[in-house]
Amino acid sequence: MIRPISLFNTLTRKVEPVVPLAPGLIKIYTCGPTVYNFAHIGNLRTFLFQDLMKRAFQAAGYQVRHCMNITDVEDKIIRDSQADLAPDATNEARHGAMQALTNKYTAFFLDDLDAMRIQKPDEMPRATDHIGQMKALIQQLIEKGLAYASEGSVYYRLAGFPHYGCLAHLDREGMQSGASVDVDEYEKDQAQDFVLWKAAKAGEPIWNSPWGPGRPGWHIECSAMGMEHLGDRIDIHTGGVDLIFPHHENEIAQSEGALGHQWVNAWVHGEFLMVEGEKMSKSLGNFYTLRDLLEKGYDPITFRYAIQSNHYRKLLNFSFEGLKAAENSLKRIRAFRRRMEGDGAAQAGGGDTWQEAIEPSKRLEEARAAFWLAMADDLNTPEALAAIFTLISDLNAQDDRIALTREERDAVLGFLDETDSIFSAWPHQSPEDGHAVAPGQILTAVLGGVVVHTGDVLSKDRIEAEVRARSAAKAEKNWAEADRIRDELKALGIVLEDHKDGTVGWHKA
Ligand SMILES: [Zn+2]
Repeated sequence: MIRPISLFNTLTRKVEPVVPLAPGLIKIYTCGPTVYNFAHIGNLRTFLFQDLMKRAFQAAGYQVRHCMNITDVEDKIIRDSQADLAPDATNEARHGAMQALTNKYTAFFLDDLDAMRIQKPDEMPRATDHIGQMKALIQQLIEKGLAYASEGSVYYRLAGFPHYGCLAHLDREGMQSGASVDVDEYEKDQAQDFVLWKAAKAGEPIWNSPWGPGRPGWHIECSAMGMEHLGDRIDIHTGGVDLIFPHHENEIAQSEGALGHQWVNAWVHGEFLMVEGEKMSKSLGNFYTLRDLLEKGYDPITFRYAIQSNHYRKLLNFSFEGLKAAENSLKRIRAFRRRMEGDGAAQAGGGDTWQEAIEPSKRLEEARAAFWLAMADDLNTPEALAAIFTLISDLNAQDDRIALTREERDAVLGFLDETDSIFSAWPHQSPEDGHAVAPGQILTAVLGGVVVHTGDVLSKDRIEAEVRARSAAKAEKNWAEADRIRDELKALGIVLEDHKDGTVGWHKA
């Protein structure tokens, strides 16, 4: 069975049913990270929303083909990667330095995705592997009269594309025709001919082209990669709201200008994240990466849940209080899961006749219906989760009096699996401490790479948490787990010392 799902389409400003171009298959393009630094939690919110959307389609019975690009050539990457090079460095050295930076942060980004259980896209094309496709697309636009070369750069001719502004709902009257802008990011009132190919500048890595040496503009990258990997028509294109203008508006102009027809059916955008009521910024000291949250002792899956329990189109105010609340909600779902995995004998009050006894199978079907009704309505996760919590309250109360049968418990577990395939936060085998994965596993997933590259990121708090987890495992005579934690710390350069009095010390190897 395939369940219908509706999404808010920025193009039409309406919540509309997603009707796939090919039956049962949804093709999604996502603007991926610009890999010059760690992704901050605002970026991660966008990737978590995309993962939720993708998993919702899968759970609803669709196949999903997902392409997310890696932007590995762009203004900020060039700025940061070229700073230490001599003015007369060769082009080869410039490309090498750029690649070294982008490889490093691509690896960190992939670690972040893993730690938050974000599914890997089917394709992750890198911009620098698609320079040929970008040049071909620019050439096509020139031939159609939609682009022109000027002093070694190539610009898009806005006057040639009457639909320009359809996504951001711009007023065409205010646009300046012909005035060309070289920068990739600009304000709405600057809507004017934008750059497709940037002429070579001193201190930048370059490629040859029919218009002279230079490099691609940022916007052409996504059009070329999206068309190469997902084709002439795609179902959904996603990104953060900050990409609507100019990036996505320009992608439409480029791709649809070249194709001569609509490229993307639905443009779906995730809202911003604020931190403790303020815009996140390095100067305010409220700028966080996933590693920062880990340093403070939070689980990446708690962060995942905190983000996904809010509707993706609402401004989200991230706070540590909110993370704590998310932790508690997850504890509740996981405890319920463990209760359903057990036989219920411990809780049941002895099989009395309770007047208000409910029919568990009926309650379960009501919860499933409410869950999917909410998800189908533009991924309304707060309501979908409310359906789960109502079920938990009702069935816990019931189970206290008359234990649910094994069959009823298994049916509930089936629903928890179904919903977990989307939220990925209450899988089977949750350890008693409420962590979806043992702290040691998170350490490997998230800090593994960091320790190697930066030397000293593994915090004292974190190590001590590991030591406590190992002591707890030993107390339960779980020797395998205790050894695993010890070996894992050893691999990260931390040696444990078991003292005679039972205390445990540690030092760096
Ligand atoms: Zn993009």
